[in-house]
Amino acid sequence: MIKLIFLGSGSAFTVGADNFQSNMLLIDEERNKLLIDCGSDIRFSLHEAGFSHLDITDIYISHLHSDHVGGLEYIGFSTKFDPRCNKPNLYLSKDLAAELWNNSLSGGMSSINDDIADLSTFFEVYQISRTSYFTWKKINFYLVKVIHINNGYYLMPSYGLLFETNGIKIFLTTDTQFCLERLGKYYESATIIFQDCETSEFPTAIHAHYEQLLKLPKKIRNKMWLYGYQPGPLPNAKKDGFCGFVKRGQTFEF
Ligand SMILES: [Zn+2]
Repeated sequence: MIKLIFLGSGSAFTVGADNFQSNMLLIDEERNKLLIDCGSDIRFSLHEAGFSHLDITDIYISHLHSDHVGGLEYIGFSTKFDPRCNKPNLYLSKDLAAELWNNSLSGGMSSINDDIADLSTFFEVYQISRTSYFTWKKINFYLVKVIHINNGYYLMPSYGLLFETNGIKIFLTTDTQFCLERLGKYYESATIIFQDCETSEFPTAIHAHYEQLLKLPKKIRNKMWLYGYQPGPLPNAKKDGFCGFVKRGQTFEF
């Protein structure tokens, strides 16, 4: 049995007191933990759920927005200078590693006392090759490339996860546009889906919107939990055939 805890289930700029950014913690029976995305809210969301940097031994990063990587400076420094911690393992798609350091983290983290640091100073980095997977505690996590942003020149992907445990196939989309052609086969094969879902009245087009997800076939909606939503009133997702909106702290067991 493994547990998936949503430390938060809100959008990037969630400001409500009752939610945080959508980062999750997977915990196996031996209390090993895999943090799925590490946003700028993490030092609050982790503590609110009863954990601290001492619990962070393995981290997966889906893409480079700050609600997914903005907490790595906190985790990196906290674990490096705490003698109780080992260097956390960091799993990410190969195309993200250099950018993560050069464009997101190096400004604050490259200078440490008496040395110049790089990503490997703080993390044991595992770069995952294209269309491949990583293994954590005997579970294979397959990367599913999803379309997050098209800037007009190229696509900026995010990497969702598909994994199976105890005969249950779990598909976690991470940040994605609505794209049935691309994701349909994963929706079909999954037992349970955790789907990025925007609820804003001003759609951004870089996240699947609730109104778009309503068009999915009933059999897909019936196994789909929604997260990544904005603060404020929510539609009646259960009435519309979904499993519901994930609440902060909600835990799933597989
Ligand atoms: Zn994003």
